[in-house]
Amino acid sequence: MIRKKTMNKKRIGIVLCALLLSGESRVVAKKDLLKTYREKRDLKKTPEPSGRVAKKGSKKKKALFVIQKHDASHLHYDFRLEIDGVLVSWAVPKGPSTDPRDKRLAIQTEDHPMAYAHFEGVIPEGNYGAGTVMVWDTGTYENIKHKNDELVSMATCLADGQIEIVLQGKKLQGAYTLIKTKWHEGSKNQWLLMKMKDDYVDARRNLLTSEPNSALTGRTMAQIAQEGDDAKKEVEPQKKQSPKKRVRVSKKSQKMS
Ligand code: MN
Repeated sequence: MIRKKTMNKKRIGIVLCALLLSGESRVVAKKDLLKTYREKRDLKKTPEPSGRVAKKGSKKKKALFVIQKHDASHLHYDFRLEIDGVLVSWAVPKGPSTDPRDKRLAIQTEDHPMAYAHFEGVIPEGNYGAGTVMVWDTGTYENIKHKNDELVSMATCLADGQIEIVLQGKKLQGAYTLIKTKWHEGSKNQWLLMKMKDDYVDARRNLLTSEPNSALTGRTMAQIAQEGDDAKKEVEPQKKQSPKKRVRVSKKSQKMS
């Protein structure tokens, strides 16, 4: 009887040990990709999404991309690609181009949570990145980077500093490349964003100015700034903008103001 009891105790001990070990290794194995994202923000003071890493979905072929127009201390475009459950991000001061001759500087910034892809609103004064954020373009992308006839994973492309993708956005289409520039002191995060040659090349177009409004809500930066992130109410389909009623100001009254 006594012997049986100790056996059971031993067995329970082994099971508990195994459970603890497996639990621990899982926690250690999961690298926290959004640590920097959370460290830079006080999420109680900004309407930006919380920093949760998305579970890896089923192996869907196409991943998400988003380009956000961000009127912070300097207006820039944030280019983000879904890679392994987060949005890997670059700040592109001049925005993307449809002309392969344009090499657009892209500075890699902290990974953002997937939920950021829908974020449009105002980051209040005093917070990191304070200013208006618009979803300028969004859609899916396909990795086309091959080496010896084999597709290179996005994680490897990122580590190697050589990304080649085809965008299927509401505005941007076709192949783009992101190339990490040679490392000098203090330039660790510098990449170049360039259009690759294909049918979507158009050196005469400038989508940044011809299609300046939100790809999600059709709003202008000014409208977002005014309405904040509270525009989930009803998203009106983008109307052909009727010429705004201009308030006629006579020269006389202009002088007076
Ligand atoms: Mn930004």
